[in-house]
Amino acid sequence: MPSLPARQAPEVRDLLAAGPLLHELSHGLGGPYHVLLPGPFDANAAAFRRAFTEAGVNGRIYYAKKANKAALYAERAAVLGLGVDVASTGELRETLAAGVPGPDTVVTGPAKSDDLLRVAVLQGALVAVDALDELDRLARTAAGLGRTARVLLRRLPPAQPHSRFGLDPAELDTALRRCADAALELEGFGFHLSGYDIPARADLAGELVRLCRHARALGLRADRISIGGGFPVDYADGDDWRRFTEEQRPGHYHAGKTFSGGFYPYHSPVAGADALRAILAAVPAGRTSPLAALLREAGVTLLVEPGRALLDQAGCTVFRVQGVKERDGYAILTVDGSSLSLSEQWFESEFLPDPVLLPGAPAAPGPYEACVGAATCLESDMLTWRRVPFPHRPAVGDLLVYLNTAGYQMDSNESPFHELPLPPKVVVEPAPQPAARPHWRLDRHP
Ligand SMILES: *Cc1c(COP(=O)(O)O)cnc(C)c1O
Repeated sequence: MPSLPARQAPEVRDLLAAGPLLHELSHGLGGPYHVLLPGPFDANAAAFRRAFTEAGVNGRIYYAKKANKAALYAERAAVLGLGVDVASTGELRETLAAGVPGPDTVVTGPAKSDDLLRVAVLQGALVAVDALDELDRLARTAAGLGRTARVLLRRLPPAQPHSRFGLDPAELDTALRRCADAALELEGFGFHLSGYDIPARADLAGELVRLCRHARALGLRADRISIGGGFPVDYADGDDWRRFTEEQRPGHYHAGKTFSGGFYPYHSPVAGADALRAILAAVPAGRTSPLAALLREAGVTLLVEPGRALLDQAGCTVFRVQGVKERDGYAILTVDGSSLSLSEQWFESEFLPDPVLLPGAPAAPGPYEACVGAATCLESDMLTWRRVPFPHRPAVGDLLVYLNTAGYQMDSNESPFHELPLPPKVVVEPAPQPAARPHWRLDRHP
């Protein structure tokens, strides 16, 4: 039975080794909870900054807030001087309350509400415009307020022509003419691609640099481009991932479960800030210089909007085992929460890295296989269909810690189904005194 150990940053290893802390929190909070770690978030942001500096490129990082609802990461963004990418009035409100200045926000998403456009204009946010009618509404909103709206025109990706996001070339032409409007300031162009392809991002970035030159010839400002997010995360070691993908088969999953959505690529040889480095070093199609040089020559600033990659290693999710049922040589565990707190199941897929079992009492040695079910009445509500080979025999009172869940897993699908409370978020930080136990506090929601 193949296993897939999750990578552990030092902060995560320290947390798992922090004696009874995780068990005490499970007892005190009375249910599952998420742990948020500020250290890895700060380190990821610093790595993205280094990638810009090393390439000699003017760059700005906007944390994509939709990847996690916690206040903590927006607070860290404010303290570190990062921007934040928001897509709703709620996300913008939380971001501003965390201390991020309005001009450091970028508002993305399709057909933004009039309320969102009004607050964005008043706060001096950059607005990524997705459609011509939206551009008109933005211009009217700004004119009505006697302000100027800061505009980024979002490009429909030529390689994803069925995307419902962005403007095609004809629409871009029209939009550029409309940007002569006194209520609009065209700051540049952007895109966000699904998938993780590096050449595709470099190619389209190259095209956007050209578009900036074209727009400037029309008298517009156009001095920045955004390449969105989609920087991969390396959840597992390459050898482990290769072995796992070669060996795994439906018989390894409870009820022979298969997944039509496929699996996230849990190993990525070029991930996070290294993916940004690779994009900057790539030569876009039809050009002879790397993207970094094209940006420098054109005096264009590069904006990035990483969500998942800034949250790499910055959180985990803790459930308590509340039932163990033996079946055909393996166990069906029931934990005190549901897959609504581990979102991958809601995308016809499964979050594959092995959860870590923390025994509550001295445990019988394994390996012992178990799948993980939810404390709900839905047959399909499984956190892990896979029969994970645990090093100990799981027992009631053990904790199951799903690592690296801050990016999209924790709360994008959460709901108080069955009146189960939403798992609280606990910020864990190193104690100020060396060798003391870590400090914890609840995540403050502004
Ligand atoms: C979701 C999203 C992002 C973040 O994507 P990640 O894959 O988490 O990096 C960035 N920009 C836009 C416009 C998005 O919709």
